[in-house]
Amino acid sequence: MQRIGSPASRPRVAAASPDAAALAAPHVVAFVERAALVLRRHEALLDRLDAALGDGDHGTNMAIGFAAAVPVARHGIAERPDDVGELLRALGHSLVANVGGASGPLYGTAFIEAGFALVGRPSAGPAELAAALEAGRDGLARRGRCAVGDKTILDALDPACRALRAGAEARLPLLDCVAAAAVAAGVGMRGTIPLVARRGLALRLGERSRGHRDPGAVSCFLLLGAMARAVAGETVG
Ligand SMILES: [Mg+2]
Repeated sequence: MQRIGSPASRPRVAAASPDAAALAAPHVVAFVERAALVLRRHEALLDRLDAALGDGDHGTNMAIGFAAAVPVARHGIAERPDDVGELLRALGHSLVANVGGASGPLYGTAFIEAGFALVGRPSAGPAELAAALEAGRDGLARRGRCAVGDKTILDALDPACRALRAGAEARLPLLDCVAAAAVAAGVGMRGTIPLVARRGLALRLGERSRGHRDPGAVSCFLLLGAMARAVAGETVG
């Protein structure tokens, strides 16, 4: 998997099992805590990328929204420790309310739809997680009326879904599946550089949107990296 962040910021504690067969609520909490940290660390970068294509607030919006999601995740696991779907849904509603700009409804819808796919389950193995990520992807595409190649979040999320599904079908361990999804998201994210934007504020730039990576695809890559580290049993500590 691709490492994000400096060695100095490595977590001090490895709590969950690194060979977990399934994603459970503690992984989701560890994921949100990691995501909040990584997004805060990359806030200026994401703002700068968004300034080139949009209104320059994507990093700020994501950092604020995921910071707000941390207590929601901690409360959620206390209330419903055995329902990973309900936890994801609660996070989705929090993201809709707390992530500013277009990304709040998009990421929020993705989490809500992924949660619906897992409601009532205490955990999700590779195949269930692949189905949930696909449901999230499809919800995001509907909500944003975007397709692959439009230079959006979807250009990182769709390859991640495909990698996760391929890993599940090959019966790879959960961590290998999620790590492959994070790597695929990185490839997809870099693949947005030559694309011309067909959605969002970048649309008005036309050909001038070429040559910049899409900030939403970058944040999606960061989120999948955070997910891989959470599944690996790393906690923020
Ligand atoms: Mg913006």
